[in-house]
Amino acid sequence: PEQDPLPLELQQTTNLARKAFSVSLTRPPDIQATRLKLPVVAEEQKIMEAVHNNNLVVIYGATGSGKTTQVPQFLFEAGYGSPDSPTPGMIGVTQPRRVAAVSMAKRVGDELGDQSNKVAYQIRFEGTVGPQTAIKFMTDGVLLREVAQDIALRKYSAIVIDEAHERSVNTDILVGMLSRVVKLREEMAAEDSSIKPLKLIIMSATLRVTDFTENATLFATPPPVIQAEGRQYPVTTHFARKTHHDYVEEAFRKISKGHRKLPPGGFLVFMTGQNEITHLSKRLKEAFRGGNTSAGPQVRISGKDAPMEAEDIDFGEIGTDTHDFDDDDDDGDEVDFHDDDDFDIGEEEEIGPAKMHVLPLYSLLPTREQLRVFEPPPDGSRLVVLATNVAETSLTIPGIRYVFDCGRSKERKYDDVTGVQSFEIGWISKASASQRAGRAGRTGPGHCYRLYSSAVYERDFQEFAEPEILRMPIEGVVLQLKAMNLQHVINFPFPTPPDRQMLASSEKLLAYLNAITPSGQITSTGSTMSIFPLSPRFARILLVGHLHDCLPYTIALVAGLSAADVFIPENQIVPTIAPREEDGYFTNADRIEEEARNKIRRNFNKIQKEFCFLDDKSDAIKLLQVVGEYAHDPTEAWCHTHYVRYKVLKEILQLRRQITDLLRTNITAFAGLKFQDKLEPPSAKQVKALKQMVAAGFIDHIAIRADLAPVPPEVRRKPTRSIDVPYLTLFPSNISREDDDKAVYIHPSSPLAHLSPQECPEYIVYSYLQRAAPAAATPEKLPKTRMHALTDITGGQLAALAKGTPLLH
Ligand code: ADP
Ligand code: MG
Repeated sequence: PEQDPLPLELQQTTNLARKAFSVSLTRPPDIQATRLKLPVVAEEQKIMEAVHNNNLVVIYGATGSGKTTQVPQFLFEAGYGSPDSPTPGMIGVTQPRRVAAVSMAKRVGDELGDQSNKVAYQIRFEGTVGPQTAIKFMTDGVLLREVAQDIALRKYSAIVIDEAHERSVNTDILVGMLSRVVKLREEMAAEDSSIKPLKLIIMSATLRVTDFTENATLFATPPPVIQAEGRQYPVTTHFARKTHHDYVEEAFRKISKGHRKLPPGGFLVFMTGQNEITHLSKRLKEAFRGGNTSAGPQVRISGKDAPMEAEDIDFGEIGTDTHDFDDDDDDGDEVDFHDDDDFDIGEEEEIGPAKMHVLPLYSLLPTREQLRVFEPPPDGSRLVVLATNVAETSLTIPGIRYVFDCGRSKERKYDDVTGVQSFEIGWISKASASQRAGRAGRTGPGHCYRLYSSAVYERDFQEFAEPEILRMPIEGVVLQLKAMNLQHVINFPFPTPPDRQMLASSEKLLAYLNAITPSGQITSTGSTMSIFPLSPRFARILLVGHLHDCLPYTIALVAGLSAADVFIPENQIVPTIAPREEDGYFTNADRIEEEARNKIRRNFNKIQKEFCFLDDKSDAIKLLQVVGEYAHDPTEAWCHTHYVRYKVLKEILQLRRQITDLLRTNITAFAGLKFQDKLEPPSAKQVKALKQMVAAGFIDHIAIRADLAPVPPEVRRKPTRSIDVPYLTLFPSNISREDDDKAVYIHPSSPLAHLSPQECPEYIVYSYLQRAAPAAATPEKLPKTRMHALTDITGGQLAALAKGTPLLH
């Protein structure tokens, strides 16, 4: 059907912007040609009309349909973000992940032929935004902080919230806030014609948008939903006959075989985390060191199994729980389901490219390394990207034709009653599985190999994942909302309201921390706490930190505790690889390799020990020491030789500076505060005070050694290692589990793990409890619940805290 012409006013602004635009920016011709094929581009007129007529529009389109790259350009060409247009404010585009914010800004800049920073990004400590910026990509956290500063978001004429289907807490809170900002701007525009309404565009890659559209607390009238139909190319989905528990090993086999059998085209492999990716990457690099020889990869397997040649692996014979996929379920979209797990290309010769170019992709990887996946692989090699969820929706990696999906992801779970946080590896949702498969259809028809059976998919996969707000502690969100004068947080227009119980316990904790009154009103301490980009516990520690001359240390400590883990775990530095036996003997090469690994292992342990120089019973103080030492030599080289993460330490240093600035500008008592990046080691007295401050922030996270508890539990065997010494949490008094182990244990990476069982402290403060995912190979055995980020504390200090005197005398 013929499309209605654009409204006159819109045509005029569009032409005006196009004119302004064409002088300064020109799209490279090849880009112009490919973008015309994107489904979203076919809907440009519909989208822009909807935006013109409504202040709120929802756009749904499958991953790869062009939402992220094209919609900001439509807005730009319609005059948004252009200084001489009626809508000069910037176009803000939010992403849940930093890597997406950076790479999408770059891509859109390239598409527009932008040379002058018209397209920029801002992530937490890094950005390219300048006065000429028209399109600003940012993480959702960045925009949230901007809303807190200017509730009317006057700098912007349009906001695009991308990847809304992921339902991250930040996205949900943003949608709630922006629903009010849009109203506010409408009211302001009605009074003052120089102010324009704010356009809000919510984009989703799945159809699960009803939480936004049919939610009367959010939007009084349901916003229009525009669909951009269709994937570019069909993707054939292949289920495995059998679902293997050891899916990393299974991925290795399948990739090895696929590499030899499949025509050229990149591989994108979905794993659940960095450990698996590192392990798999090592295996693949080893196996294909010399390229794809016709002898196939040398398959090394650990354990008692006999060595096996790749050719021994017959995919067709592995399975036992074969399940016929019901073809009727295929409701006519382009995805073909095949219940086979071989590469049915009908030929036996090897046609794949010789070499493998293996690249990891996960969020802790340095940005520079992350961006390598966008570069073409070396000639004659196959790109193999081993990725976490990062690659599920936000990034489009060029040249991917085959997806290998383990079907699992690592998700943070939070048990509100026990306070146990766990990273559990669980099945993804059907929606996620379809996103992952879709990644194969970008450059041409593709294939997705699922490492699980269709029976498991049908039986165990949920339609959609649960919103994150139902899965994590929310005291930070509650404090932020209260700081914005929302006393009754339950009245906030959440797309999915958090559990009432969860809200209640957040308020209890905030009251504990003196951030709110018992009746739920924010206190002046609470308002000050909310200024810092820290969780309320850390903000509280910070604000008691100026006593005892500890402030610079406290800043360093809370910055360190807020960031991701600084320490690279031992198994990532020295992988455990079972030596290969030949005729019952280890090969010489293996013996040499094993010796080399032992040497690294010894060095690793030596360095860990040196980091406990200040104190050998506290992860917090160990972290403080690392943060302090790094500042004396803030280089990648130092981090490399000390087995710590450069990216994280660099960020901690930036965070320390930011916290110092915030203290200076917001608290009059600190007006003269200067930033000290290099710190002298704290005195013993300061160390003691710091430990007590940590306890003040975690007063509800104390564990007592079980044999010293008022009612010691029965312990069957006397522990011989400190990591087996049972502790009992004081609040709540026990952690119930299916297998009846109510105790919690010291984490093996903690300095406390090196003590003898007798030396284990009576009381321990922990930051969080975590239960690891069961090992892939032994899913039936439930791992112990372990305490993380530990600090020992004496009974005397605890008593002082309990009396409400948070500091030592
Ligand atoms: P969506 O947001 O709907 O998932 P995108 O706008 O991210 O889709 O991507 C649209 C298309 O743009 C992709 O299918 C891909 O062909 C192309 N594209 C995106 N980013 C890049 C990039 N960095 N390099 C090359 N092509 C890209
Ligand atoms: Mg996108």
